Amino acid sequence: MSNSEALFERAKQYIPGGVNSPVRAFRSVGMSPRFIAGGRGAHLVDEDGAEYIDFIGSWGPMILGHAEPHVLDAVKEAMEQGLSFGAATKREVEMAELICESIPGIDMVRMVNSGTEAVMSAIRAARGFTGRNKIVKFEGCYHGHTDAMLSKAGSGVMTQGISDSAGVPAGCTQDTLTAAYNDLSGVEALFEANPKEIAAVIIEPVGANMGVVLPKEGFLKGLRELCDRHQALLIFDEVITGFRLGFTGAQGYFNIQPDLTTYGKIIGGGMPVGAYGGRRDIMEMVAPLGPVYQAGTLSGNPIAMAAGLAQLKLLKETPDFYQKLNETSDHFFGELGEIFEKKGIPVQLNHIGSLGCVFFTDQPVTDYASAKTSDTEQFAKYFAHMLSAGIYLAPSQFEDMFISSAHTEEDLEKTLEAADRF
Ligand SMILES: *Cc1c(COP(=O)(O)O)cnc(C)c1O
Repeated sequence: MSNSEALFERAKQYIPGGVNSPVRAFRSVGMSPRFIAGGRGAHLVDEDGAEYIDFIGSWGPMILGHAEPHVLDAVKEAMEQGLSFGAATKREVEMAELICESIPGIDMVRMVNSGTEAVMSAIRAARGFTGRNKIVKFEGCYHGHTDAMLSKAGSGVMTQGISDSAGVPAGCTQDTLTAAYNDLSGVEALFEANPKEIAAVIIEPVGANMGVVLPKEGFLKGLRELCDRHQALLIFDEVITGFRLGFTGAQGYFNIQPDLTTYGKIIGGGMPVGAYGGRRDIMEMVAPLGPVYQAGTLSGNPIAMAAGLAQLKLLKETPDFYQKLNETSDHFFGELGEIFEKKGIPVQLNHIGSLGCVFFTDQPVTDYASAKTSDTEQFAKYFAHMLSAGIYLAPSQFEDMFISSAHTEEDLEKTLEAADRF
């Protein structure tokens, strides 16, 4: 038995499924998870000493690679001064300034501890501001695991084959309406059927939790117009796309300004962080300024802020960071697609910037229903092959490949060679 297998046996006795988040279990690919001992750059080492080129990057945060020295130094410096005070600190101000000065759609921002919390709070603010209850979300989009958002919620639940979670009272999702991704007329119909009742439309501006699904030309703009016409708010959940497609995220990439934005993952540099922000008049609804209550004992804590700030500053100040990362990624995904084409294996290689996904299907993937046409057994074989070649992919057909600036040409070349041997 390997060290990872032994750890997994111990873990299963005391942790449900042996993991602290279901996406980490290798159930859908019929294997047991590798326990990771450490990482540096784009590389991971597991508890058995096996090395991998990592394409998960902690599910997005590690856009600079693991153990980035500036981020580690910032954490060490902050750590020496104490871990948490539950009081206002300077780094929170610097973080808020950096975000608000960089993102045109954000006048004010509140830090929280996860993407889940960011979305939950943004929705509460949207409801408080509009005085309406209903929320439109899209099938296959994941917005964290709060009750109201656990409806047609993408990868984690897709992979486990659970359509909706147990333990969520119907009352909690009764105000959650769902539409198909990329289907503007479906959203329009919901607005017509629920006049003056929809507080907000929330969307991943690039679907990144059912594999990668790109918004069709005009879709996001159409949502913006529909929301304006019906006095509803548009919320971009940029927990994955924020600071990844570019420093200004998907809203900058597509040039569409949402009313509220949620962040997580990259914004914490590997620490548990989330944030929500947006228009001043909406954010002024939040306590202690306004009647929408939201709080957090560890929110904005010095260590998380230090890690996040160090990472964001590097991203902002490195010349051509995103241009280079996106060019490298485009090239890589292009080559990966060609490998499958050459072999005659039908796949859809959806990609944008440093996010990509190989769907094992011959149908274009534009929404949840088409993503579901993928051959997950074929994916499981591909996953196992790549893992044994030292390539660590997400253990689910419905997750993404995340490229970081730490992936070298050699790393990417090795990955293509491994795919070529599949
Ligand atoms: C990961 C994710 C979340 C939830 O963030 P957590 O930090 O895991 O709570 C919310 N929205 C999107 C788009 C995500 O990818």
